[in-house]
Amino acid sequence: MTSIRFLGAAGTVTGSRFLVQAPGGSILVDAGLFQGAKELRLRNWQPFPHPVDEIDAVVLTHAHIDHIGALPLLVREGFRGPVYCTPGTYDLANLLLPDSARLQEEEARFANKLGYSKHAPNARPLYDEEDALAAIRLLMPLRYGVRREIRPGIAITYHRAGHIIGSAMVQAEVKVESGRIHRMLFSGDLGRYDAPILPDPSAGVAADDLLIESTYGDRVHRGDPREDIKQAVFECIKRGGAMIIPAFAVGRTQEVLFQLRELEARKEIPELPIFVDSPMAIDATPMYLAHREDHDDEMARLVASGAEPLRPSRLVFARSPEQSRAINRMRGPCIIVSASGMATGGRVLHHLKQRLPEESTTVLLVGYQAAGTRGWSLQNGAASLRIHGEDVPVRARVTSITGFSAHGDKEEVARWLSTLPAPPGRIFCIHGEPPALGATAERLSARGWNARVAVDQEEVDLSA
Ligand SMILES: [Zn+2]
Repeated sequence: MTSIRFLGAAGTVTGSRFLVQAPGGSILVDAGLFQGAKELRLRNWQPFPHPVDEIDAVVLTHAHIDHIGALPLLVREGFRGPVYCTPGTYDLANLLLPDSARLQEEEARFANKLGYSKHAPNARPLYDEEDALAAIRLLMPLRYGVRREIRPGIAITYHRAGHIIGSAMVQAEVKVESGRIHRMLFSGDLGRYDAPILPDPSAGVAADDLLIESTYGDRVHRGDPREDIKQAVFECIKRGGAMIIPAFAVGRTQEVLFQLRELEARKEIPELPIFVDSPMAIDATPMYLAHREDHDDEMARLVASGAEPLRPSRLVFARSPEQSRAINRMRGPCIIVSASGMATGGRVLHHLKQRLPEESTTVLLVGYQAAGTRGWSLQNGAASLRIHGEDVPVRARVTSITGFSAHGDKEEVARWLSTLPAPPGRIFCIHGEPPALGATAERLSARGWNARVAVDQEEVDLSA
């Protein structure tokens, strides 16, 4: 039997992993970690639900940890590759997998120190840096648009998804028992239309079966990020202090830099000192410039003209802790872009701790803030914030921009679906919270398409 099994991101957003078993072999599309609520994170500790030595290859859609973060676990269980990915994903995985391992190790150390783990004082990390490096050694870059037979009767082709650098949808052509070629399309995470830097999601990819991401299946993004950021800059100047932007190091930081430089180039904002204070963001920025295969026309033109599209004129990269601390002495209007994006950790905490008590400070939230994070508390008007064991009073002005997102909203996904050459025979809605999944399936069914929400762990026969 040729089949697909949903081993994660079914009924939930994280833990993307889909197993295709065919006469020519077994491939796993994405090997993501479960993130968020504790009952989800506990799933990372369970043995992989399929013998890993029976998996012939892994095919990655993009480098976000909920899509690649379980690779070191597979390797630990005995998987020996290969792992296919785009060149951009290859570079980002080299940055993100060791970082994920360090976070796991840190968490284990913390659990041991506080004794909250039931394994205390011997809590072990989910995986360590060595596991991450072993996983990286299995990566095999494959360019967009190149059809590659990775097993007898199983060919894959990457198409651009426009979500982050290297992001792709995967078209898998699988020969089933009857000799028929079955085309499966894995959307991966789909990006936005007309977003800066990245191209629109590739149009017109044929599919007999489609797995469609549904993150924003019940929502529409509002607002113009460039205009909103401009307003925030003027507010920051009026208040006379710093503007702190907590931002994800990969993707959001570069998008913010692009918009700020663009506003400067158009003389719509004055040139302010801008600090990027996150070693990972500093490492990811040259990758955003180097991967020209991931650039849209505007970005390509800017790069070709030598305009340095991610470098506002007074940009400073603060790599060392000394450079980071030096920002504390900065008075007057300036912009500090620092991770983490929800203020759950990282260097941004030092800046918030120092500047939240000042009325002249602006905090600009440019990303989704999950419930329970410091970012969420700020967004919801907290009068004080607990940072490094201290209660820090919030006198700063806090504003949110909602127009930034790396995921297409329901209208953008519908726009992409309308480019498919024909309605797929079956559509499985994945990668969303239940309301968003339900809304996506319902909308597609109303269009007369055969769509439903994928069920966790179910196996669907593709040979029929
Ligand atoms: Zn993603």
